[in-house]
Amino acid sequence: MKQVDILAGEDGETAGTVSAAFRAPEGTPASDPGRPLTLPPRTSLEQFKDFMLRVNDVVGSENATVISSDAELQHEDYLDPSKAYDMYHVTPKEFFVSSAVVAPRNVPEVQGIVRLANEFEIPLWPFSVGRNVGYGGSAPRVPGSVGIDMGRNMGKILEINVDGAYAIVEPGVTFIDLHNHLVENNLREKLWIDVPDLGGGSVIGNTIERGVGYTPYGDHWMMHCGMEVVLPDGTLWRSGMGGIPNPDADPNAPPHEQKPNDTWGLFNYGFGPYNDGIFSQASLGIVVKMGIWLMVNPGGYSSYLITIPKDKDLHQALEIIRPLRVGMVLQNVPTMRHILLDAAVHADRTHYTKSDKPLNDEEMDAIAAKLGLVYGPPPVREVLLSVIKQSFLQIPGAKYFEPKDMPDNIVLQTRHNTLQGIPSTTELRWVNWLPNGAHLFFSPIAKVSGDDGVAQYEVTRRRCEEAGFDFIGTFVVGMREMHHIVCIVFNRKDPESRRRAHWLIKTLIDDAAKRGWGEYRTHLSVMDQIADTYSFNDHAQMKLNDKIKAALDPKGIMAVGKNGVWPKQYKREDFPVPMNGV
Ligand code: ADP
Repeated sequence: MKQVDILAGEDGETAGTVSAAFRAPEGTPASDPGRPLTLPPRTSLEQFKDFMLRVNDVVGSENATVISSDAELQHEDYLDPSKAYDMYHVTPKEFFVSSAVVAPRNVPEVQGIVRLANEFEIPLWPFSVGRNVGYGGSAPRVPGSVGIDMGRNMGKILEINVDGAYAIVEPGVTFIDLHNHLVENNLREKLWIDVPDLGGGSVIGNTIERGVGYTPYGDHWMMHCGMEVVLPDGTLWRSGMGGIPNPDADPNAPPHEQKPNDTWGLFNYGFGPYNDGIFSQASLGIVVKMGIWLMVNPGGYSSYLITIPKDKDLHQALEIIRPLRVGMVLQNVPTMRHILLDAAVHADRTHYTKSDKPLNDEEMDAIAAKLGLVYGPPPVREVLLSVIKQSFLQIPGAKYFEPKDMPDNIVLQTRHNTLQGIPSTTELRWVNWLPNGAHLFFSPIAKVSGDDGVAQYEVTRRRCEEAGFDFIGTFVVGMREMHHIVCIVFNRKDPESRRRAHWLIKTLIDDAAKRGWGEYRTHLSVMDQIADTYSFNDHAQMKLNDKIKAALDPKGIMAVGKNGVWPKQYKREDFPVPMNGV
């Protein structure tokens, strides 16, 4: 296909698989279980082995795994995710891969590993559960980094504070865990959590990556309160009100065991500079505890789906949504889902077409007629429903449905749960739109306006089709903006499909930047490209990030390259992302 030629010819990225410089040295016996597939940069095999011996002393050998064979790279399922590579790899699968995965059991062990990393100058890549799918999962940006699996042994719900309506959790606590805990302890009557589309990720990982859900508490980062972080030098730090010692705490206990201040989970800002943000989408520490606000069960609740028949109605729908959302008539985070996102939850592509070409408008209208839906903003409290109904039903052909009207509509039935904080994994299904389905998310921010929404829809749909993919996307409407989530579904076992997906996301990032649109989050393979687009005043944002990085992480050991931030010990040009898909 034409666009594949463009990829190979015009992109400046290095073709090929893993750079030879970062592979284990020739001559080491392949059967040596201490020899990783990929060594950490600037590290000999002997140094790596010494490091791992010392790590074993800290965490126990059962909690430290060297990634020494392809057998470790066989996980392909969200329900059993890889801890060492990106299951939804757009590059060759062995590129974004850890040299070892280490799972500390407690805070002092995290501190111990961090201190060893400084001593050996080996880069660490912390993650919580590794279900950051579409953005890289558990994989590190720099091949051969040591993955720190925070979720495996540190998964306690430390507190549910009913009066203050918040929870304090460790990294391994997933949305499903937290929800089940509320149910099992008869607290769900009082408190709800907010969940993203998939409930298997961790509360901490999703929140610090600034993921979103769909209730009024959908902006997870806005709703976090209180962080405990191991800094790159091993120091334990508590944010905000956590700086004030609790008079009831035992001053002789180790810091991580000292009872936090009673207002830690209630007020975020504390006194002086507010630093939580530097630990979000960041490379400045390992988060070991976090508070998250819970929503008080609102009592009344109704969910609904409004379908809008034509693409051209998107403009009017967005103009209707803005005043309702900004004025908080729409209290939750509504979504405007493209027909194919819902179609893909119901069945894979072969169910709808035999053609290889992206589906055109007529084919999509036919699918819409079959499913009985096109775009759908979800629920709010019952009292406001009539205003919302009146507003949307001005659109010719718009229809209103409640879950009871569509018992077989999996999407509406699942959203009915999601929107009251009940987690699920149903939305995984759209990844199977193609065989060996995997996805990348392209996620620009948009104004909530007809002009902006339509412009983003047109540009992204056209490019998807140019790359030979169907357009699958959703607008997630926040307090003042929309996260436009374009789901690039590709076949991970087909190098050409991977290459087209990679070309597509890189091209979309450039297209978007030219129009002043920036992404809120991204996959490992394009972090540098997006970081470069935030270029105001000669990259003043990145220059500040670099200064903070150098001050807090002078040895450059923490999450190297994350979100485009590279410590001075590394040149990002030395870690090019292979682009040819093979
Ligand atoms: P999820 O919890 O959704 O499965 P991941 O565990 O894959 O998400 O984490 C996503 C990203 O968030 C990681 O790549 C890392 O950058 C960051 N992250 C997750 N947990 C931590 C943590 N405890 N400390 C520091 N960074 C973290």
